[in-house]
Amino acid sequence: MAFEGLSGRLQSIMSKLRGKGKVTEADVKEAMREIRLALLEADVNFKVVKTFIDRVKERAIGQEVLKSLTPGQQVVKVVNEELTELMGGQESKLAVASKPPTIIMMVGLQGAGKTTSSAKLARLLSKQNKKPLLVAADIYRPAAIKQLEVLGEQLGVLVFSLGDKENPVKIAQAGIEKAKKEQFDTVLIDTAGRLHVDEQMMDELRGVRKVAEPDEILLVIDAMTGQDAVNVAESFHREMELTGVILTKLDGDTRGGAALSVKAVTNCPIKFVGMGEKADALEPFHPDRMASRILGMGDVLSLIEKAQEAVDVEKAKELEKKMRSQKLTLNDFLDQLQQVRKMGPLEDMLAMIPGANAKALKNVTVDEKKMDRIEAIIQSMTSHEKDHPEILNASRRRRIAMGSGTSVQDVNQLLKQFQEMKKSMKQMASMMKNTKKRKGFK
Ligand code: GDP
Repeated sequence: MAFEGLSGRLQSIMSKLRGKGKVTEADVKEAMREIRLALLEADVNFKVVKTFIDRVKERAIGQEVLKSLTPGQQVVKVVNEELTELMGGQESKLAVASKPPTIIMMVGLQGAGKTTSSAKLARLLSKQNKKPLLVAADIYRPAAIKQLEVLGEQLGVLVFSLGDKENPVKIAQAGIEKAKKEQFDTVLIDTAGRLHVDEQMMDELRGVRKVAEPDEILLVIDAMTGQDAVNVAESFHREMELTGVILTKLDGDTRGGAALSVKAVTNCPIKFVGMGEKADALEPFHPDRMASRILGMGDVLSLIEKAQEAVDVEKAKELEKKMRSQKLTLNDFLDQLQQVRKMGPLEDMLAMIPGANAKALKNVTVDEKKMDRIEAIIQSMTSHEKDHPEILNASRRRRIAMGSGTSVQDVNQLLKQFQEMKKSMKQMASMMKNTKKRKGFK
């Protein structure tokens, strides 16, 4: 997970401060020295680190912090606020053209994740009931056009292409024409990258920019490349006047330096972050939530949003009814498990829970394999068995274990867990009934 090292170190520095009833100027200075080292080790640009530390120090050593009733907490608050500010303060939303279509030009080096991010962004826009058109103007990277077409098809987003023989300027122009004619409200142009920043690429991009007149020029950079990503952003910004950055591969074990430096160095806000290879792994970037996550203060808002996206409200209502009447079946159990898993890897979700700090998380190994086994076992049952698990005798259990590639013990264990869950639901239901009675509900 990104930021793991930084997060762990900042949290231990912060918890030392928090625990103190009285914080002296020397304590703050010592903490700042440690934070400085932690940031440098996380590959944050050294100038950025210096400015950050100076700002925090100035505020934290102020009388109102040290003389307050909870000085430790106040210092943590200052660090959190300054970390948020460093990453851009507030969420920076996409521009919308006053006269559609809104034109978004995607730029970046090869391999940064430009094509993937274009498709992910198109998906995000479709989910907001927009009608995006993807324009395949990366004519150099072998298979980039095909890749975009395949992604577009999976996501139900139209991809416009003229093959790899036309020049990108012409492709962009024709794509925008099509969007205007056919009432697409957003055009996403996937341009060609190179292995390094070079003049030919910039010339070509300037050509596309001239005809496309984009509302947004988004640079896609790879978080795993650390300070290199920041240097790339600086060069692109100088040449192209970027409007924002998409930082990809934040799901990997990047030390996080790029995320913390790019806004301060280029003054370009991070608008989205890529959190995985799948099409739904692109999130709007919220500096405040990211700062809280890094400091182990959780990110409940993102967790709720993920749940809202993954959970089917109708199904949830149905489930609640069944829980009350104690008619829960293994089918419901499986459904529930699958909905939770749609929210993403459990470890990522745990990191969003306040108090679940990096150190504690190290001791929790979420056994995704065990979840796979549970799914396989339930899927190997007949519908009748799922609704009536009490008929599962020894021979049925053997058959299910064979069919799911598990053991009879695994099947037994799952059934036992399910029975226990039903039992606790029964208790809960009767508790709820009693409370309602006491409160005079009908
Ligand atoms: P392009 O050359 O910039 O168009 O790069 P691609 O879109 O083809 O992406 C390069 C590789 O990075 C592909 O294998 C993608 O699946 C992968 N990738 C892109 N974004 C992410 C991300 O956020 N997380 C992870 N783990 N992989 C990503």
